[in-house]
Amino acid sequence: MIRKLQDQGKIPTARMCATCEYFSANVYDDAVRPHHCNLVNAPFGDRDLRLDCPEHQEIR
Ligand code: SF4
Repeated sequence: MIRKLQDQGKIPTARMCATCEYFSANVYDDAVRPHHCNLVNAPFGDRDLRLDCPEHQEIR
């Protein structure tokens, strides 16, 4: 859904988890927290996806 909104230009693509080097999507079976942030080394869920994260690292 986030990618679709990005493609439609409805939300910014900069500094989002989806474009971050530290982001690992859907690595856990946990439906509430399926993703992992490798910067803080912690799982998190869709509701915690960042849109303007100051720690964002562009994917190389
Ligand atoms: S560093 Fe920020 S943008 Fe990157 S995965 Fe972690 S929370 Fe998301």
